[in-house]
Amino acid sequence: MVLRMTVGLVLTVVAFAIAGRRLWWLKRLALSGQPAPERIEAARDHLGRDVATETVEVLGQRKLLKWSVPGVAHALTFWGFTILLLTIIESYGDLFSRTFAIPGIGHWAAIGFLEDLFAVGVLAGIITFTVIRLRNDPHREGRASRFFGSHTRAAWVVLGMIFGVIATLLLYRGAQINTGVFPYAHGAFASQIVGHWLHPLGSGVNSVLEVVFLLAQLAVVVVFLVVVVYSKHLHIFLAPVNVLFSRRPDALGALEPMRSGGKVLDFEEADPDTDVFGLGKIEDFSWKGLLDMATCTECGRCQSQCPAWATGKPLSPKQVILDLRDHAFAKAPYLLASSDEERDKLPDAVKAEAERPLVGSADAHGVIDPDVLWSCTNCGACVEECPVDIEHIDHIDGMRRHQVLIESAFPVEAAGMLKNLENKGDPWGMGEARRAEWMTELDFEVPVVDGTIGDDVEYLFWVGCAGALEDRAKKTTKAIASLLHTAGVRFAVLGPAETCTGDPARRIGNEFVYSMLAQQNIETLNEAGARTIVASCPHCFNTIANEYPQLGGTYEVIHHTQLLAKLVAEGRLTPAGRVEEKLTYHDPCFLGRHNKVYTPPREILESVPGIEATEMHRCKERGFCCGAGGARMWMEERIGKRINTERIEEALALNPDTISTSCPYCLVMLGDAVAAKKSSGEAAESLEVVDVAQLLARSVKPAAASPVGTDGSSGGEGGPGAADG
Ligand code: SF4
Ligand code: SF4
Repeated sequence: MVLRMTVGLVLTVVAFAIAGRRLWWLKRLALSGQPAPERIEAARDHLGRDVATETVEVLGQRKLLKWSVPGVAHALTFWGFTILLLTIIESYGDLFSRTFAIPGIGHWAAIGFLEDLFAVGVLAGIITFTVIRLRNDPHREGRASRFFGSHTRAAWVVLGMIFGVIATLLLYRGAQINTGVFPYAHGAFASQIVGHWLHPLGSGVNSVLEVVFLLAQLAVVVVFLVVVVYSKHLHIFLAPVNVLFSRRPDALGALEPMRSGGKVLDFEEADPDTDVFGLGKIEDFSWKGLLDMATCTECGRCQSQCPAWATGKPLSPKQVILDLRDHAFAKAPYLLASSDEERDKLPDAVKAEAERPLVGSADAHGVIDPDVLWSCTNCGACVEECPVDIEHIDHIDGMRRHQVLIESAFPVEAAGMLKNLENKGDPWGMGEARRAEWMTELDFEVPVVDGTIGDDVEYLFWVGCAGALEDRAKKTTKAIASLLHTAGVRFAVLGPAETCTGDPARRIGNEFVYSMLAQQNIETLNEAGARTIVASCPHCFNTIANEYPQLGGTYEVIHHTQLLAKLVAEGRLTPAGRVEEKLTYHDPCFLGRHNKVYTPPREILESVPGIEATEMHRCKERGFCCGAGGARMWMEERIGKRINTERIEEALALNPDTISTSCPYCLVMLGDAVAAKKSSGEAAESLEVVDVAQLLARSVKPAAASPVGTDGSSGGEGGPGAADG
């Protein structure tokens, strides 16, 4: 008894000391990052929401269960280990008394049954993981495997250790049954089976096995603890913490504002010598950023959904996080050293790591290659999938900010776009005067705000640069305006007073140009007294709705598909004409994943008689990017397959007459890919790419032309049934 007690306790104390030292080191490393007081405040101020989030995301395993087979296997393992904490208590109790039982519940058959049920569940889970890992072997599958780039050897070790925990547990319980000290007379079915197998060995041997497997079980558990804190399985402890401090509802929609020392950076007062401008070194990341890195489970779900990775580019969101983590860990002695003297004494390898540029080519030993950084479309698929709520886009765009603002290092072809934004207020440099041209092509007058918006105006129609200036997108703009006119909606536009929302500047990392444009627009909107804005571009929609509040501009913003779907539902628009088209709908990332608008465009399509809509394999939350977001629209796509080509090939597999979408960026990117397919003979000449508003307009009979007052009055021909004529 004394021997097993001593061995068990010594093993435990040693393991806890090693694990505790590692956790203390990790805490110091995380706290060497920038402060993030807003994360603490958000968690502290929303305790109810935090409990709900932890319940759904961690206990409920919400995101993991979206992947049915691996999700169920993970849930079984997670829930299993939660229940099996009871068996660990029992094991420690047995060190002191062979007949130990948990006070109160220690003899309940239901507890014995649950413990065995989840032990078997964990075994089923790890068998499933083994099969999944064998089928997705990165050595065989290459980039197609989501485990490509992960530390697979460590994963096998952990699977082996989990098996060891369960095997020793059942063997020890089986031996206990044969020696008559097992606390559960009924219920523990798996232990009974193992006991039955061991029974022929006799009570003497079983007494020895009881001690051997008890100590073996405790040894495996405490060694597992040490392995966990030194491996990717650290997520077992860190995932609930990372989820607690993550942005809510998620890290999509708005980008994080630029912060220095935990405070939002004010460009007018910022000092380049003392302030942090974007992420230029690993220590420029906040503690939450460093926590993200330490929490990554290397599951590769993000990688499997990334359009850049899927089309052969060097960007994998998982690899970005792992490269940052490896660099942070290797540079840690330098970051944690208390003085320059101490830093001087560090090994050369640590000093070399500290010298590495965060972003730089392989020749410069950069941690993140520039081709990786600039391949991101900000599509959000990685953030959407990540089961531990890692915020990839904020990290990628944070590094872009430093490259643009401090290093002036970004794809050269995007320079023209930035210059045009600064000088002309639109990415093409066409100038404000041309923003009104589309209105002259309509047979009714579109009211342009002159001074303030009239009280009778229901919506300010935010047209956007593409919507006003790009030929294909202008067709959508005219269709929306015509539909609003037909429905009798009182709307107005800013016309030449509108300027780019700043989205391309912000997403490429030029926060300075973004804030200049955003402040100008907020001033214009406030002077006009804007209340409810309808935007046709999901990027404008996202920027005004989610990012302008960071600068004090708060408005109610809806997307045109939301408004049009509402008008149809209210009977203010009646799609009566048949549109005999077989089509598929492409979800724009900034409307879908970033803003969760999936249903209204589909409702519009369903309302049009004759349309036969089929979903692509990758749709809704799993929609595949068109390749234009993250300012990629203004960069050359030199590496791998074009993302828009990959998307169009998926659409073409459904043999549609039409591909519909609800974003001017997507319209252009998919249109270009279709044009290329037509010229190579792979797509029918009649195949079109159109906005859902255009399809709706084809079905709704237009209202008679009628002048609209510049105060915003639409002439009064609207109201229910107007579209019926
Ligand atoms: S945002 Fe999209 S493109 Fe960028 S890393 Fe994530 S999945 Fe890849
Ligand atoms: S970042 Fe998230 S989704 Fe990607 S590998 Fe890590 S844990 Fe998995």
